[in-house]
Amino acid sequence: MSQLQKKLGDMPKEDFRKFGYEIIDFIADYFENLEHFPVLSQNQPNDLTNALSKSAPIQGESFPQILEDVENLILPAVTHWNHPNFHGLFSTSTSSVGVFGEMLTAAFDMKAMLWRTSPASTELEPIVLDWLRQMMGLPADFHGLIYDTASISTLHAIAMAREKLNLGIREKGMSGRTDLPLLRVYCSEQTHSSIDKAVVLLGLGTQSLVKIPTNERFEMDAEKLREAIQDDKARGHLPFCVVATIGTTSTTSIDPVDKIADICQRNNIFLHVDAAYAGSAAVVPEFQFYFKGWERADSIVTNPHKWFFTPFDLSVLYVKDLDLLKQTFSLVAEYLKVTETVTNQMDYGIQLGRRFRSLKLWFVMRYFGQEGLIERIREHCRLARLFANWVDDSENFEILAPVPFALCCFRACPKNVEDLDVLNEKIMNEINVSGEAYLSHTKLNGKFTLRLSVGSIRVEERHLRKVWDLLNEKI
Ligand SMILES: *Cc1c(COP(=O)(O)O)cnc(C)c1O
Repeated sequence: MSQLQKKLGDMPKEDFRKFGYEIIDFIADYFENLEHFPVLSQNQPNDLTNALSKSAPIQGESFPQILEDVENLILPAVTHWNHPNFHGLFSTSTSSVGVFGEMLTAAFDMKAMLWRTSPASTELEPIVLDWLRQMMGLPADFHGLIYDTASISTLHAIAMAREKLNLGIREKGMSGRTDLPLLRVYCSEQTHSSIDKAVVLLGLGTQSLVKIPTNERFEMDAEKLREAIQDDKARGHLPFCVVATIGTTSTTSIDPVDKIADICQRNNIFLHVDAAYAGSAAVVPEFQFYFKGWERADSIVTNPHKWFFTPFDLSVLYVKDLDLLKQTFSLVAEYLKVTETVTNQMDYGIQLGRRFRSLKLWFVMRYFGQEGLIERIREHCRLARLFANWVDDSENFEILAPVPFALCCFRACPKNVEDLDVLNEKIMNEINVSGEAYLSHTKLNGKFTLRLSVGSIRVEERHLRKVWDLLNEKI
């Protein structure tokens, strides 16, 4: 062991500088060579587990040794979300400048609880989120907060909705109480599973979640929502929250938020809008009409980590009633009591310490500017429509859902094949195994449906052409 390693304290500063440059070179090479990697990791389950040491090294290892294992062991186990041919789920990727933001956040290592423990996070966050609010065309009465994921943002929104009922649930809980009616939350059949998880976690139970049928465009049927609320009221239940989605996970369908807002208003129900994916598209002026009525919501979630080139994780919850959110979560231990009249971020959620996430979004918004961001999102939507046109013009393929944003739902349907589900699943698996591209699937009206999402900051028309050629080779 060297003299240096025997010393206590951190890595020697000369080493930090040296390896720091190496790490940047490693990342730069990675971004430059992305297209040479298979999109999906070619590992089998447990390949990595079996290659890793079962306990920590007794003595410290050299950093080059560690980096070598990243190259040899970790990298093969990486599925390359940044690859321009990652079209599965939602194609999400980080910009390079977003990585710089993460590096600095890690370096500062602040935990935003009180203003004094992190003035930078406490003050930058609302500014950056107000920039984003303006870009998305939302009115100034929305205040943003950053959480890790949309699942957590939505959990907070529904917790707020429950607190608004003023039933003393914060103090008395819900169990063992005979004075509470059954509380009801509504969403559509196409809504993301994070709503189910939220009602589980909030002690409402899945029985409290009513799933409203959708129309042939996979949009919530507002009339059926109205009826369901009326029926529940007649039975003595208490409808208190509706979750409408703009850009559902399966097809990016758009619930009729304006009509739903009317129903919520009439019944005094909290409206949460899940725009985790599609919220980013609101920055494009010609797409604003898809978002009609969302300004009437009580809360909205959108994920810059999905389609705003910001590294995972960063989800934004916009709420109208910031005091209600505070009322839902604020609990101040003696050692955290301060006399300053300032915002303390710990008061607005379940976490005590929060990461300084706004820094990377600030970097992204400043580096690309409003124009640069709008152009990129617009181009992704153009590419998805272009792909949809190829599908439409082909005898052998068909579109299975509208394409409002940058996701195309389609399938192969050659005349001579009987079982199209089997064929399409086979096509998808073959493409995925090849490592050339990644597609995922959904089931629409019982049909096995291929999903092609366009969203990587590195995607170009040639990448879509490549997928289209691959698909046509398979039939
Ligand atoms: C992706 C997605 C979510 C979940 O996002 P996380 O940030 O991973 O929790 C929720 N709702 C919709 C509509 C989504 O597309």
